[in-house]
Amino acid sequence: MIKADRTILVTGGAGFIGSNFVTHMVNNYPNYEIINLDKLTYAGSLDNLIEIENEKNYTFLKGDISDAEFINSVFEDYQITDVIHLAAESHVDRSIKDGTSFVETNVLGTFNLLQAAKTSWEKNSNLNNHRFHHISTDEVYGSLDSEGMFSEETPYDPRNPYSATKASSNMLVKSFGYTYGMDIVISSCSNNYGPKQHQEKLIPTIIHNALSEKPIPIYGDGKNIRDWIYVGDHCSALDVIFHEGKSMNTYNVGGRTEKTNIEIVNAICDLLDNLLPISTKQVEHYRDLITFTEDRLGHDRRYAVDDTKIRETLNWTQTTSFDIGLEKTIEWYVKQWKILGI
Ligand code: NAD
Repeated sequence: MIKADRTILVTGGAGFIGSNFVTHMVNNYPNYEIINLDKLTYAGSLDNLIEIENEKNYTFLKGDISDAEFINSVFEDYQITDVIHLAAESHVDRSIKDGTSFVETNVLGTFNLLQAAKTSWEKNSNLNNHRFHHISTDEVYGSLDSEGMFSEETPYDPRNPYSATKASSNMLVKSFGYTYGMDIVISSCSNNYGPKQHQEKLIPTIIHNALSEKPIPIYGDGKNIRDWIYVGDHCSALDVIFHEGKSMNTYNVGGRTEKTNIEIVNAICDLLDNLLPISTKQVEHYRDLITFTEDRLGHDRRYAVDDTKIRETLNWTQTTSFDIGLEKTIEWYVKQWKILGI
């Protein structure tokens, strides 16, 4: 192991955002030791990390954040200086079916990390020399009508078990800041898209079903609105917030790209029509595969974040437009499809 300026525990680094973020940190900060701790649930894969797996400032640990004893041993063994916490159960539909693992990982797991960090950092130096960065979601704020945006001051009003556990974990993180003076920051981001996302999520599902020429399912009337951000832009925002964000602050991160689900599906179908025209005579265009299905329970109508704070106080800006980001994303999935058939 290198003698590092910081030894950062990144949790959930084998998942979608985590693997993009770990790759970003390992490549951009050779003086940091990045310890990636992940349980490798169905949502995590080491294939996402092949590019950096042999880098000398990178270590992978398989483990569960809901196991307090194990987490304590990681802080002791690796002398962790900072935490960037992404590990979570993240799929709303699964949380609606059974929220148990969401409480175990998102609530208990976050508490274990906070507790272990506090114990280790108080023992070895002092709490102020360390940072705990918690990754959260705009879903904690609830649902909007056609007007308005969530600000960092919007009260939490989660509407499904996933967002309820994320709001709970935000509160636990804040409580460690207020109670013990721990240096904490929280970032709340809108919907991410890009390479390496699990197939169960909206954009990979659309691409996968289109390529398989299977029905492309859309909940309800398809008019639910989300704000979309390319995962690479979220990673650069996390980098800035971790390094420059003010302690005890929340930063909203958005893509300023509000789209209805049906707009997303149509855009993907049209790009695929150009890239890989449909091969059978069953249907003429990918759009012909669109099928409306029964709406998700408690389906939030619209999310939109006001991210002025990160843009004005930390000078962060996104660099990938939705059109370019979607093209890059589709090209990545098509390549996977051609190589692996997935
Ligand atoms: P993901 O489901 O792709 O990845 C989650 C990772 O956490 C997986 O690698 C999984 O193996 C790991 N994990 C799950 N339970 C664990 C446990 N008990 N111990 C250790 N590791 C465990 O999720 P994602 O989309 O990459 O999201 C990452 C974070 O960002 C989450 O905290 C999520 O709430 C947040 N977020 C996601 C989005 C989005 O659009 N995907 C938007 C805003 C915020």
